[in-house]
Amino acid sequence: MSTAAIIPAAGLGLRLGGEAPKALREVGGESLLVHAVRGLKAATAADLACFVVAVPAGAEDVVLKQLEPYCEGAHLQVVAGGSERTDSVRVALELVPVDGIDCVLVHDAARSFVPVEVIERVVAAVRAGAPAVVPVVPVTDTIKRVDRDGRVVDTPDRSALVAVQTPQGFEPSVLRRAHAGDVAGATDDAMLCERLGVTVQTVEGSEDAFKVTRPRDLLLAEWLLAERTRS
Ligand code: C5P
Repeated sequence: MSTAAIIPAAGLGLRLGGEAPKALREVGGESLLVHAVRGLKAATAADLACFVVAVPAGAEDVVLKQLEPYCEGAHLQVVAGGSERTDSVRVALELVPVDGIDCVLVHDAARSFVPVEVIERVVAAVRAGAPAVVPVVPVTDTIKRVDRDGRVVDTPDRSALVAVQTPQGFEPSVLRRAHAGDVAGATDDAMLCERLGVTVQTVEGSEDAFKVTRPRDLLLAEWLLAERTRS
């Protein structure tokens, strides 16, 4: 049995600024998307056999050519994503083969530097029987819930909060059921599983799996890449 990876990479990256869509912005001379795919491929225990990448409409051919050299031995498909992240995941999920796949990963292209151990931990937990798995890290800020006027409503107990990363891993039929239901307002795929009443398991994530969102994240990414090259 093998793993399929869905990579939503169709966001425009407005918070990041710049001309190119976020996933095509370069760090160390290569796009965030290339870094993300190479990272997944390096997780040998995950047995990645299939990549489906959702990109901004019109970028399909360029991205296919860019990623082909990194996907040897796996099947690569590139499709136009949708207007929301969940739309991009849904169109990609339709292209994931039903046979021979026991785990589907959904991985943000913008979390380009997730360590191999995190990827393998997620896949191992799905293969051990968890229907949905998310990597998490502790929250370091105090988090407050606020109302529309900016007034604090309450302060959840920080020890019970975690920040959720990707790749998120799923038993394939669970992810298909999750995307067949109501997807409005969902910011990740695990949330859709929660709506079905499916238990979502957490595993240890990594600070290196941060999401490139704002310009300063590109500087952090450059530094991280340089550190990895040095060691
Ligand atoms: O916007 P945000 O950083 O939360 O996006 C997370 C991931 O989802 C990114 O890799 C982005 O390219 C992707 N995305 C997508 N389709 C959209 C919006 C975001 O594939 N319509």
